[in-house]
Amino acid sequence: MTAGLSVTSGLRRAARNRRAAVAVVDRGHSFTWEEHAARVARLAAVFRSLGLKAGDRVAILADSGHLYLETYQAVPWAGGILAPVNSRFAFPEMREMLEDALPGLLLVDAAHAAIAAELVGSLPVRPILLTAEEAEQRMTALPPMPDTGRGGDDVACLFYTGGTTGRAKGVALTHAGLVLNALNTTAPLGMGEGMAHLHCGPLFHMGAGARVFSTTLHGGRHVVLPRFDAGEVLRAIEGEGVTHAVMVPAMVTALLDHPDLGQRDLSSLRVVSYGASPMPVALVERLIRCLPQVGLVQSYGQTELSPVATMLPARDHVPGSPRLRSAGQVLPNVELRIADPEDREVPAGTVGEVQVRGPTVMKGYWNRPEETARALRGGWMHTGDAGYLDEEGYLYVVDRLKDMIISGGENVYSAEVENAIHDHPAVLECAVFGVPHPRWGEAVHATVVTRPGHQLTEDALLAHCRARIAGYKCPKSVEISSEPLPRSPTGKIRKTELRDARHVEPAAG
Ligand code: ATP
Repeated sequence: MTAGLSVTSGLRRAARNRRAAVAVVDRGHSFTWEEHAARVARLAAVFRSLGLKAGDRVAILADSGHLYLETYQAVPWAGGILAPVNSRFAFPEMREMLEDALPGLLLVDAAHAAIAAELVGSLPVRPILLTAEEAEQRMTALPPMPDTGRGGDDVACLFYTGGTTGRAKGVALTHAGLVLNALNTTAPLGMGEGMAHLHCGPLFHMGAGARVFSTTLHGGRHVVLPRFDAGEVLRAIEGEGVTHAVMVPAMVTALLDHPDLGQRDLSSLRVVSYGASPMPVALVERLIRCLPQVGLVQSYGQTELSPVATMLPARDHVPGSPRLRSAGQVLPNVELRIADPEDREVPAGTVGEVQVRGPTVMKGYWNRPEETARALRGGWMHTGDAGYLDEEGYLYVVDRLKDMIISGGENVYSAEVENAIHDHPAVLECAVFGVPHPRWGEAVHATVVTRPGHQLTEDALLAHCRARIAGYKCPKSVEISSEPLPRSPTGKIRKTELRDARHVEPAAG
């Protein structure tokens, strides 16, 4: 049924229908769809000439740019599986990932050439190292090759994820799942030919990768920045007429705090979507106030879901509405339920594990049959997230199951406590997690970072919390800091790191 769905079909269509329209803008470079498609087909030919066969992995370690976007298409075009390397991984993490994915080729830009050479030298099975410069030279010497026509259940990409919670696993995503994700998100995001999407987050992450496929599917324009920089983002929106962008909460804060925000003409911007981690309601409300003309869309999902399961559309972004705490309703082609630890569905309003099934769910974890079987038991993807549905099917994500705090027999969900803390004007960022406690098993702890120039005492913060949430949910210990919180490469707070640091000095009485 899904056999014809291929991540490259959008490119073939755009190359025909939108030949002369601009496809990619990358700093000084600009390519039409005809040029972009030709470069993709030549790069695919380069991969083939270096021995790539159907199902072989091609890894890429590079800053975001046109070559990265071309590789996203050229690898599946040549019949291979794209395996982006997280450029912010430490050396041993990159090595571990490459040892697992076993790519035949590693494509690398000049900025990463040295580390890539060292990596390749350290691997027992060595991939061919292809520099961007060599790839360019070879592309001029080879004719474009036809699309190999892979699709449906064939694996198109391997994204390594899980860095926030443990060792990274390779998530195998299919052509059909990725195309359906792009189609599922079209309506809530108002995507179409006239759009220009700004890629300002790392392209090794699935959240950004999904937008590469959906923008291509619609023949929209890709505007790509090498890395996130709030000032450059504002400049690119104005200069390139950007209509769409996707950001994680840390990027939104940086953008709203940037002195150029009021100086730039952002009138082209139509949709900003956010997600990937809990977004404080206070920040969403600030975003609505600062960019009133922009439609905000929240997405919830995970890499294993290609990646979106639910979306909260722009019409539900009403300041003061309780819906702002929700991650929205389930998308088409996705089935979602809340289940208890025995995998029985629970009624609306009851917290349980968020479980998802359907064609967008991953094929499995690469080389990990046991973990795959565990994650997909009973045919449902066990997301590891705790949440509930309301009577109208709106999902409320309350925590990661692993982060849920059980204090004196009561469940405390960190998202609720974090939202209460974020309501305080002096708070820039915060993380709430459980620390061992001799009497209650776990006690609620909050690490809070204050805004520059603001003062906050533990007592004042606790009084603020007591006025908003039940006593047992209020932090029993607070650390007020001016240091930024540790974050993963995608901007998520590393609670494990904070928790481990607290283990050295357990919470007092
Ligand atoms: P890493 O980002 O380090 O690779 P990860 O475990 O965070 O690892 P992802 O697939 O990037 O992997 O993130 C998925 C997780 O992010 C979800 O399981 C959920 O916990 C969180 N998340 C995603 N969207 C939202 C949202 N809208 N609200 C709350 N949490 C979210």
